Amino acid sequence: MTISQKIPVAMLGMPRIGRRRELKFALESYWSGKSSAADLLATAKALRAASWKGQHDRGVAKIPSNDFSLYDHVLDTAAMVGAVPSRYAWKGGEAPLDIYFAMARGKQGEAAGCGHAGHEHAAQDHRLTAMEMTKWFDTNYHYMVPELTDDQTFALSSTKPVDHFLEAKALGIHTRPVILGPVTFLKLAKSPAEGFNPIALLPRLLPVYEQLLRRLRLAGADWVQIDEPALVLDLNSNERAAFDFTYGQLSKAAPELKIMLATYFGPLGDNFETAISLPLAGLHLDLVRAPEQLETAGRLAPKDLVLSLGLIDGRNVWRANLPAILDRIKPIVAGWPLDRVEIAPSCSLIHVPIDLQMETALDVDVRSWLAFADQKTEELVVLAQALSEGREGAAGALKASAEAAAARAKSTKVHDPLVDGRIAGIDGGMKRRKSVFAERSRVQGGALGLPPFPTTTIGSFPQTPEVRKARSAHAKGELSYIDYETFLKKETEAAIRWQEEIGLDVLVHGEFERNDMVQHFGEQLSGFACTQHGWVQSYGSRYVRPPIIFGDVSRPNPMTVRWWQFAQSLTEKPVKGMLTGPVTILNWSFVRDDVPRAEACRQIALAIRDDVTDLERAGARMIQIDEAAFREGLPLRKSDSKVYLDWAVECFRLASTGVKDATQIHTHMCYSEFNEIIDAIAEMDADVISIETSRSKMELLDAFKNSKYPNEIGPGVYDIHSPRVPEVDEISDLVMLARKRLSDGQLWVNPDCGLKTRKWDEVRPALMNMVAAACALREKV
Ligand code: GLN
Ligand code: ZN
Repeated sequence: MTISQKIPVAMLGMPRIGRRRELKFALESYWSGKSSAADLLATAKALRAASWKGQHDRGVAKIPSNDFSLYDHVLDTAAMVGAVPSRYAWKGGEAPLDIYFAMARGKQGEAAGCGHAGHEHAAQDHRLTAMEMTKWFDTNYHYMVPELTDDQTFALSSTKPVDHFLEAKALGIHTRPVILGPVTFLKLAKSPAEGFNPIALLPRLLPVYEQLLRRLRLAGADWVQIDEPALVLDLNSNERAAFDFTYGQLSKAAPELKIMLATYFGPLGDNFETAISLPLAGLHLDLVRAPEQLETAGRLAPKDLVLSLGLIDGRNVWRANLPAILDRIKPIVAGWPLDRVEIAPSCSLIHVPIDLQMETALDVDVRSWLAFADQKTEELVVLAQALSEGREGAAGALKASAEAAAARAKSTKVHDPLVDGRIAGIDGGMKRRKSVFAERSRVQGGALGLPPFPTTTIGSFPQTPEVRKARSAHAKGELSYIDYETFLKKETEAAIRWQEEIGLDVLVHGEFERNDMVQHFGEQLSGFACTQHGWVQSYGSRYVRPPIIFGDVSRPNPMTVRWWQFAQSLTEKPVKGMLTGPVTILNWSFVRDDVPRAEACRQIALAIRDDVTDLERAGARMIQIDEAAFREGLPLRKSDSKVYLDWAVECFRLASTGVKDATQIHTHMCYSEFNEIIDAIAEMDADVISIETSRSKMELLDAFKNSKYPNEIGPGVYDIHSPRVPEVDEISDLVMLARKRLSDGQLWVNPDCGLKTRKWDEVRPALMNMVAAACALREKV
């Protein structure tokens, strides 16, 4: 162990989107035919070069390549191994851009959805449908689900990892290529063949990986990072054996090429033995989500296994307390040879924004507590330096880090005794309605006087180019507050008039004033900060700017009452109050890491509760609290589900139960898998829940039927993800299918989700057909 030897900083992956969202603009310009493929590829190349150079200049020793993707790294992997579904008429070889993008987005027009990516699907009436998209583990990044048939064959069809390695090499930068591991790839895949588990394809897939590893070695790579986050999931013995088999093979493919196996997003848990005994050169551990793994690894790992310590949080935006990290790990790693360790972020940094320096409008204190990808890179370098050479050389940076942590810990911007007091004052009565559902339903039925099969919508109406233009003009100061208000009132009034005209029973104000269902609340709540450039890839060219919850949350002023009041003043029909629920706000934000998530969620719940009771006081008879991301928050391991569901339900109830029996509470969840959470949904005890069902032929209502769910349900009968207008008959058929599973008294008639991404020309006829279907049904029963 010599002093000159240094512990390397290893980066697992950097954001791809560009500091100014260059990739998004290049993609969209290419898709719309405004620029050429060469333009797009040139932008992509420049982004890669900038990322490599930035890391190199900051002192990262193990710089990744192939972490870049034009759309999604899982899609890249599918294309690379030749897993291109037959409908794309691929003829082998490197998939051309139009096939690649057809897999991502379908062909002819764009898939549309209800705003957040969790519920986007390719529209089915595209002649060429896209592949399915789903959440990447428990992140808000979405990947394209590989589709593998039981007779699937594989062939190395793209040399992207090699090309990018060489591209960096030409710039004088020696990189460590990153590839998605074969077991995780197969585990994330689906198959159209019933009962077929893609894991069975492993023996056919591995030769492709072996070939790739040999090519990388030939190109000059000495290390490769293979990502196997599936190792943090519940695995059966078959899947564990798949790891043994895979790495037994791959370790022999190119003996001089060392493999760093990366695991992240949680503890290896019961897969620890499996991971640690694989014949590998290195193993990366997420020590943010699972710090205890360091000690175990130190004890159990073979001495020649390089351990990559994921010490800096790749999933959140907080600046680390570097001396505290050093204090924690020092006693464990003290006796290790320096070449046994790498310092790394917990996972790829694609889940955080790029550069905090760009946030010139943030509160200076809040800013001093944050670190985005570039700052996290610098933190890693400081950690590595302090570990290899002692703390003196990095004294300044360490001191600043500790001071920021201390300031944050005692800041009055973070801690609000009034919020503490309210949390302490929560009692059982605040978590349940005054009466049980049967009783409430009686009171509400009398008061609301709704017809059978009442019709409604989920909340938003089309965010037209005019609406967006007005919002951005107002934000830039080009449209005065008064003029913007006048514009919004005009839109809202037109929406109310039109809903009355077509005969909807329960109206909505249309959400024209909202930019996003979470940010709209983030901007109004204390304890939240919103960024200017803090974009994070959600999927493809869609990026989101999650609000940052940095402190105790409270609601200085009512948030939704004014627009509800205006809308209700225009009509005799009931207008639903419209709020985003606490669990969804939490799950789509960067959450403070100094209190448990449940605690942060409770605070949001109390703020929402205040708005709910204010709406009631203002006269609202129905209030909808959307929980679009309720299911998304489920932990990766089954054994952790109960704890999550318990506090999530508790928070929804805290938010929703402050009202009288006569006030009808609605909730909305835009997805269709309920089996795991059906009991929790029952416990939420909303009077009415609307869900996404139109594509599943109402089959998922079985979950509600079998658990004898008693409350009211609006199963979506209009697929809002597609521009297609459903016919009256189709809608009636869906309602009839729902009637087979639920009682008539339970049923509402509504679309799958909000209509903000649709055009009025689609929405108008579709909702008129929906109302016609409900009316026809009423006549029959
Ligand atoms: N009220 C919201 C809307 O209509 C709900 C959206 C959602 O749950 N995704 O847009
Ligand atoms: Zn929805």
